[in-house]
Amino acid sequence: MLLDYDKNEIKEYVNVLGEPAFRAEQLFDALLQAKNLEEISNLSSSFKDKIAKDYPHFCILKKLISVDGTTKYIFKFDGGEIVEGVLMKYKYGNTLCVSTQVGCRMGCAFCASGMGGLKRNLSAGEILEQVLLVNRDQGGDVKNRKVTNIVLMGMGEPLDNYDNVTKFIKLVSSSEGINISQRNITLSTCGLVSKIYQLADDGFCVNLTISLHATDDEKRKKIMPIANAYTIGEIIKACKYYFEKTGRRFAFEYALVSGENDSLKDADKLVALLKGLPCLVNLIPLNYVKEKNLIGTGERQVRAFLDRLLANKINATKRRTMGADISGACGQLRRQVLEEDK
Ligand code: SAH
Repeated sequence: MLLDYDKNEIKEYVNVLGEPAFRAEQLFDALLQAKNLEEISNLSSSFKDKIAKDYPHFCILKKLISVDGTTKYIFKFDGGEIVEGVLMKYKYGNTLCVSTQVGCRMGCAFCASGMGGLKRNLSAGEILEQVLLVNRDQGGDVKNRKVTNIVLMGMGEPLDNYDNVTKFIKLVSSSEGINISQRNITLSTCGLVSKIYQLADDGFCVNLTISLHATDDEKRKKIMPIANAYTIGEIIKACKYYFEKTGRRFAFEYALVSGENDSLKDADKLVALLKGLPCLVNLIPLNYVKEKNLIGTGERQVRAFLDRLLANKINATKRRTMGADISGACGQLRRQVLEEDK
């Protein structure tokens, strides 16, 4: 698929087809604008015929707009698979949450995305497609971007699809492409430790966020199967390494589940774990997923938990829940989306 290619690879592709070099420029421009083949007016139909099998069908299947302005997008890929993305509007710009896999094999107890297991990885181009489509849909282009920030926090575990995700990061941050800087990209992981080291060693400098959700390994194992492979201690060590290599601070997501991990004792344990580290804690009151029998922590306890962290000099914020009315909030994105319309 042509979106998997960087500009040099497009040039090479056009060259192999025996077409003049300027066709590569035209083709690359059309891709960046998320134009479908039939919308491109400066390419001959014989050239279009040649590239049709490799050209993506840009498709937003559905769009849901929340009362708070957050927009959930449902994308359909050429294989027929469906994934979701969410655009959040802030004062500083627009953040798009993209999916990296169709489904997920991490099996976290509270999350809707992994409920059907992993269907397949998305390619680098399919992840990029989400960015380009939303940028176009919001009236943006390459010079005047309407997607300014990206979070790899949609469906899937990005580090479980390492090669495609890192190629995507290169494509999306390329100065020849849409040019969204790695500083404006955040990768969220449930903690695939070996891949965190690899990311640092491969020279990436995106913002790193760890989904922690528990303060000891035993509790974590109950809700996150990945905790059987890596301890919290190993994760923190890898984060420190990432910080040393990249200079980027890291963050921890902590979804507060009523009666499970939200006591002040848990807050104190979190303080003990993270004290002195160059990191931020993002508290998320657990979002409702109808198949899961877990309840999010109430407003007052969230505040008390947050205050406890702050009082102990842990950098922490409460994540504003956006798009909850369109099932667009953390952990609510799923593979069989259309089910919710039935
Ligand atoms: N697999 C990656 C990327 C998913 S990001 C990761 O685990 O980080 C989605 C974020 O939402 C993760 O922090 C995830 O743990 C969190 N999440 C999942 N289900 C949730 C729920 N029901 N309520 C709140 N957060 C949830």
